[in-house]
Amino acid sequence: MDELLSNQECKPLWDKILSLVSERVSEDTFLRWFALTKLKRFDEETIDLAIPNEIYRFWIEENHMMTLQDAIIQALGFPRKVRFIIESGAPLEGATEETGAPRGSLAPENREFPNEPTSHPVQAVHPEKAEEPESDSPARVVDGERLTRQRAKAGLNDRYLFDSFVVGSNNRFVHAAACAVATKPSRIYNPLFIYGGVGLGKTHIMQAIGNEILVTRKNATVLYITSETFTNDFIDAVQKGELVKLRKRYRQVDVLIIDDIQFLGGKERTQEEFFHTFNALFDGHKQIVLSSDRPPSEIRQLENRLVSRFEWGLTAELHPPDAETRIAILRKKMQLWDVRVEDEVVFFLADRIHNNVRRLEGALMRTASFASLSGSKLTLQRAEELLRDILHEEARNTVTLDRIQKTVAEYYDIRVADMTSKRRPQNIAFPRQVAMYLSREMLKASYAEIGEAFGGRDHGTVMHACKQIRKKMNAHNDLRRVVSLLETMIRSNREP
Ligand code: ADP
Ligand code: MG
Repeated sequence: MDELLSNQECKPLWDKILSLVSERVSEDTFLRWFALTKLKRFDEETIDLAIPNEIYRFWIEENHMMTLQDAIIQALGFPRKVRFIIESGAPLEGATEETGAPRGSLAPENREFPNEPTSHPVQAVHPEKAEEPESDSPARVVDGERLTRQRAKAGLNDRYLFDSFVVGSNNRFVHAAACAVATKPSRIYNPLFIYGGVGLGKTHIMQAIGNEILVTRKNATVLYITSETFTNDFIDAVQKGELVKLRKRYRQVDVLIIDDIQFLGGKERTQEEFFHTFNALFDGHKQIVLSSDRPPSEIRQLENRLVSRFEWGLTAELHPPDAETRIAILRKKMQLWDVRVEDEVVFFLADRIHNNVRRLEGALMRTASFASLSGSKLTLQRAEELLRDILHEEARNTVTLDRIQKTVAEYYDIRVADMTSKRRPQNIAFPRQVAMYLSREMLKASYAEIGEAFGGRDHGTVMHACKQIRKKMNAHNDLRRVVSLLETMIRSNREP
């Protein structure tokens, strides 16, 4: 096979592969993730694909690799190793019209943004290749005082940086999206909507975007606020008759970062004002970053038109960190705070606190101060006593089989006792299967354990239930949404 192909030769081949892919994925998926990719070269082992940014690699690898490989096999006879090449300057802009991609998934062209840096400022997207940013690179030469002033004005805290954010499988996607937005504000994902449970790093990653932009773009105006501040400012402005001033303040920023947007729920007039602010910024090609504890469509009493705008860009979820990431976070914090606890204690903390990084930090702080004050070695037994309240709090937030059964039963309006009963009418059997499926997915429990917890059912029954639900979820979007909603409710211990 040819080592290198000219563009003309690559194109028909790639078109063929793309057309095979397009038959297997939804139109939205195709337009969003494949329409902008290009085949650069291929040989007998490898295919090099040009993509606009790191997110594409992540997304295609995570979700569409099988489809892509199938298409490659069909077109070329056998599989190839796919390599991704980020091609900056790939035709992100302008592609919207041509491809008909959903509005906002790719932001419109010809926008102006102050001080376009020439190089990519955010290295962390490629951790393996990350180098220390050169201190004398023009974009990095910053006036410390200027930055301090701008940060204060923007409402940003300099503790929350990309550098101090530990990347793991739980947050890789959000991190890559945030880096992309910080590198090219208003160009790629607008708005960027980040959601996830308490203490999982929403505020940190959003502030990191703001901080990064202030460092790399001298003249950019960034504003970070919570939705409560927005609400209070609005009420104040109405009372003082200063709406014009308020609008000017919010609409002249280049980057608006609003945290905890769920608190706009039920506040009709504030929502109305925010709707116009959003439109003005979006139409002016300004970057908007939002966060919430849940996806837009699940925010209670949020107007549909806002829900749909929040979904225009990219919606990315933060999950609780896995064991390795929890350990890496603890080590990072020890380094940043210049404290030390023994490895044994680090493992103990990572083992016992799963759901909330803020809580993990609190526990580390407490054990570290004990160690430094008492000067004696902290035993695990002592750590357990020291952290009793924190561990208790954690236990309340831990997913259990009981909680899964209770949440699913409440959602489907059946009795919790029906989860374990022998009764089999469909209105009970189906929710029971959903709960079994969730137990398997969320707890990674064995079929036998699950069977035991669901009234002594056997291994095969549980396996069948999980298979059925998986099959139905593939066929029905509605069920997929319900299961995802249930998962969120179970994780955050929320009422249906
Ligand atoms: P949220 O806004 O989601 O409630 P925060 O952003 O306030 O959470 O994070 C809580 C604490 O945990 C912060 O001190 C933050 O620095 C820390 N944290 C969360 N995730 C990470 C991470 N991946 N790496 C480093 N620190 C993190
Ligand atoms: Mg927060």
